[in-house]
Amino acid sequence: MRSQFPHRLYTQRLFCRRCQKVTEHGVFAREMYSTIGGMDPYIPLLCCCDSCGTMFVAFSHEFVFCRHDCVNQDYTKIYGYNRIMAGNWIYFKGTAKPGIVKSFFQGPQKEIVVVNYDGGPDQKFELPKIVVNREDAPGGYRLLPVQSANTLLGDHIYHAIRNKFGTAVGLVNDGEKDKLVVLLEDGMLVFITLPSLAQNLPNEKLCAIVQSKLAQVFPEHYDKISVEAGQGIAYLKGLVRNYSLQLAVEKCVNAIPKVRGCVDFMRVQVSPFITDTHIENAVYALLESLETRMFDNRVHSVNGKVEVETSCYERERPKDLENRIGEIEGVRDLICLVTEVSEPLNVELCQEAEEELSSNVILQDSFIRVSCNEQKFLLEGYVHSTVQKQWAFITLLKKIRTTAIENRLRII
Ligand SMILES: [Zn+2]
Repeated sequence: MRSQFPHRLYTQRLFCRRCQKVTEHGVFAREMYSTIGGMDPYIPLLCCCDSCGTMFVAFSHEFVFCRHDCVNQDYTKIYGYNRIMAGNWIYFKGTAKPGIVKSFFQGPQKEIVVVNYDGGPDQKFELPKIVVNREDAPGGYRLLPVQSANTLLGDHIYHAIRNKFGTAVGLVNDGEKDKLVVLLEDGMLVFITLPSLAQNLPNEKLCAIVQSKLAQVFPEHYDKISVEAGQGIAYLKGLVRNYSLQLAVEKCVNAIPKVRGCVDFMRVQVSPFITDTHIENAVYALLESLETRMFDNRVHSVNGKVEVETSCYERERPKDLENRIGEIEGVRDLICLVTEVSEPLNVELCQEAEEELSSNVILQDSFIRVSCNEQKFLLEGYVHSTVQKQWAFITLLKKIRTTAIENRLRII
């Protein structure tokens, strides 16, 4: 399994079930993702104990470094430990529940906090002034045990019953129940049973649910996909017809309620006769066949991992472009960058040149596009011979009277 996750993204202190303590873990991914600015959800990550090598899978949306808009952001400020602003959730130690700060006023000796609990009448607290200079968790805390189901790995927590701060370090199953593991400030480990709604389904049940969903959504393909389950995670194996289908299966499984995420070990079925050049030509042909005008196209394929850069006019981006490229035989992975050009250059001149080229007898049966980026004019599309390629260049040269032309015509 480790070889499938070659990239170490992050190091985090997590609970190891073999060491029975919190150790440094490498957090590995299959691609070189960055955690800066937040990671997209549903990316499987392999967490590997640096001391003993024991591994488990968790997903990017279960970690504190996930993109903020993808995970629950209900953090509570603890009075006396956080700076407070209107709109924050606030919790006073020893009380029953948190409320929302309606207003906060700090005078020279005392401070006044107006708090609303569950939409009832506002309550005003006059308290002696506390200056919080250093915040361990500026964003606030997960209030435990109530918020155990929302807690992310690495979150700062406050355990209200034990009156202790700490961090969330793991999700484990003790053979009966799924539990959140937290490390308290005094070094004590606490295992909090997750609420019944957050408990993972038994493996066989989860497998059956995923299989029947796949049978329903992908009736022609589901029998080639095998499903295994473990602690709420679906592991998919098998051969799929193309990359788009692979992504669609993954998306479908991730959307099933009670699935924590899926680890996709499926492979795209590729004939050994398909080369990267075949793939590149097929992508170019697709870009040229679209109704939308695509230009400044760059396509690279290395072992079926395809990178496409292309441009179109503003608000004309074809919606299903990635999907259609993913259906091309041989594509195993895809990065597609589309630039929407808001103020295209020399549009009329390019159009005139295109018309001239298309009516040219020598260039019959060819497909030629002319566009202009900041540096030069681009000749794109295909011709059938070197002579035609040169002829197109000369014809354009005469028309636009500049040598700043890049001749990207393909000969097919
Ligand atoms: Zn270990």
